[in-house]
Order: sequence, then C-alpha cells, then structure tokens
Amino acid sequence: MIKVDVVGGGLSGFSTAISLKRHCRNINVVVHEKHKRIGYNHEGRRCGEAHSVEGEWKKWKPQGKSVFNEIRVVETVVGDKKYVMYRKPGTSCILNRQEFICQLAREAERLGVEIWTGDKIHSLEDLQGEYIVDATGCPSTIKRELHLLHGITGMTYQQTLEESNYFISDTVKIIFMETPGYYWIFPRDPDRREINLGVGIIGKTSDNLKGMLEAFKKQHDIRGKINYVTGGLIPAGLQKPLKYDNVLFVGDAGVGTFPLTGQGIYRALISGEIAGKAIALGFPEKYPFLIKKMFIKWDILGKSFVYMNQVLKEVSGKMVLTVLQCLLNLQYKKIL
Ligand SMILES: Cc1cc2nc3c(=O)[nH]c(=O)nc-3n(C[C@H](O)[C@H](O)[C@H](O)COP(=O)(O)OP(=O)(O)OC[C@H]3O[C@@H](n4cnc5c(N)ncnc54)[C@H](O)[C@@H]3O)c2cc1C
Repeated sequence: MIKVDVVGGGLSGFSTAISLKRHCRNINVVVHEKHKRIGYNHEGRRCGEAHSVEGEWKKWKPQGKSVFNEIRVVETVVGDKKYVMYRKPGTSCILNRQEFICQLAREAERLGVEIWTGDKIHSLEDLQGEYIVDATGCPSTIKRELHLLHGITGMTYQQTLEESNYFISDTVKIIFMETPGYYWIFPRDPDRREINLGVGIIGKTSDNLKGMLEAFKKQHDIRGKINYVTGGLIPAGLQKPLKYDNVLFVGDAGVGTFPLTGQGIYRALISGEIAGKAIALGFPEKYPFLIKKMFIKWDILGKSFVYMNQVLKEVSGKMVLTVLQCLLNLQYKKIL
C-alpha cells in the first residue's frame, strides 16, 4: 500500500486527503497538522472568508453551520465608479472557515485518513511517504527547506469588528485603491453583527497597513469592537514549482490566490482535489499541467494586471484605476 504524507491540515490539506481516498481506498494517507486542534487555530481564521461556489468548485460547497451568510450583492468601488453585481442564490457566501475545515476533517476521517495533530513537520526527513503533499500555506515550509522561490506575493491586514455599524448581512464591499490594492468589508457572524475589514496590497510594500486601515475606518466612520486581528503574506497566482521530485504543492504553497481579488479558498480546494486524484490514479507527473489548464486564464489576466500596475503606478495612480474600470466593464458585458 502506498503512503502519502499531507503536510498541513487546512482547506488544501483536507481536500487532498479526501480526494486521495475517494479515488483509491487502498492508500495510506496521513495529514500532519502543527496545531493541537483542527480549524480552531490562527490559520483557521486567517481569512476574509468570502467564497464563491460555481463551476468546478460546486463539489466543495459548504453546508449547514459552515456558512455564516449568503451573499447576494457585491459592491466594487473603483475611483469614482461603483459597480453592483447581484449574485445568484447559493453561489456566494461568507464561510465559517473553522467549521468548514472541521467538516472536511470529519469526512477525511470517515474515509480512513489518519490525522496527526500537534505534529509540526520541520523537514522532509521527518516523512516516509512515497509522495508528499505540501499544504502548509504561504510561506511554504517545504519550499523554504528546499530553497525554492515563491512567485508574486502581497501583504494583508484584517480586523474583525463586533457590533459594527457596517454590518449588512448579504453584501460584500471591495474598494480598490491606486497602490494597487484594495480594502474589503465582509459581513461575518450575524449574531454578533461582525464584519471582516481588511486591506491588501499586491507586490512588495513597506506601507503601514494597520495605519492605512485605521485611516480608512475614520474616513468612512466604520465602528465596532475589535475582537480579532490577522493578516500576513498572500500569494498572488501560481507559485511555481507546482511539483518538485515527489512533492506536490497545493493551496497557497502551489496555486496561490487569484491575483485580482485575493480569493484562495476555491483554489486551495480544487488544487488539493487535483493533486489527490493525480497521485491516487498514478499520474502525479501530470499535476502541474492539470493545474495550469485549470488556472492559466485567470493567472494571465491577474498577473498582467499586477505587472501593468507596477509600471502604471510610477506614472499615475489614477491610470491604475482606469485600467481596472476597463476590466470590470468587460466583465459586466460578460466579455471576460
Ligand atoms: C487576511 C487574509 C484574507 C483572506 N481573505 C480571503 C477571502 O475572503 N476569500 C478567499 O477565497 N481567500 C482569502 N484569503 C486567502 C485564503 O485564506 C488562502 O488562499 C487559503 O487559506 C489557502 O489555504 P491552504 O490550505 O493552502 O493554507 P492555510 O489555510 O494557510 O493552511 C495551512 C495549514 O498548514 C498548517 N501548517 C503550516 N506549516 C506546517 C508544518 N510545518 N507542519 C504541519 N502543519 C503545518 C497550518 O497550521 C494550517 O493549518 C485570505 C488570506 C488572508 C491572509
């Protein structure tokens, strides 16, 4: 029986483990999670939690308590223009990420996956599996050990505010800035009228993100009691290599987030599913090809935007917003 070590018990780790077992019962899968408790740790909440469920990723639709709110309205502000998009029922939500990770962990266990908690992997030498799946997020523990470079990254900072005057249960707001980057306001737990309020900048930055978010709160009179603060590195697009020797990189460690919006949840789930299937059915070498096929269109679009912005912002921040307005106009006309 072949053995697969999955390093990291987050979304990508569990989607990999479930996929491995669904495609081949006769395989020994161990998930190694550094924290003592699945889901309810720092990384379990390290996210804005806005999630879309359409196309390929419908298979990973969160159920029951895993959903805080259904989202019906997406408001995007770019310079002086506001775009309002109405979402079809059941296609967008604010995810209760901890609950969702626990749900996936229960399903993995039901399928026979072993979950070792409090098990921090320091080196590949700690593992004996024929295949290793790196689902450790960003920065990846294994890429650091192997001295492999990351792709483009960004920085984020987020506060969760309780009893907020900006809580609107079915609406997410995204406000783009010239830098390039954006602020977000997502309605989290309705019982506490919580919002996730954050700022993200793509590319290297020395900006004081906390200071920027405080200024944004003041400017828009956003109030509420801070009950949680998070943030950190966010990978923008594919973080090559996707495979190195017998190691496959999934989630933030491999496919990163969509560079335009920072969405990484669906990419974590789908990349894990593809990696699990490729190993279980005996074609792991095809993993990078399958991933590129799935994500390349969005990567080219997102990365071109990032590179173009790096040039444009030197000329004029306003041009960054103009280009973004053009992209959104095309999306609204369903050309993109
Ligand atoms: C502030 C912020 C807001 C975001 N908002 C959104 C959003 O609204 N929507 C969206 O779609 N995406 C969002 N993202 C991106 C999203 O969070 C990630 O893309 C997604 O969590 C990636 O999942 P993952 O399983 O690859 O990694 P992670 O969620 O980081 O999980 C990695 C797991 O590996 C474990 N681990 C790490 N190192 C080791 C080790 N050495 N040994 C054992 N275990 C280890 C960790 O404890 C953790 O459980 C946001 C990210 C940030 C930072």
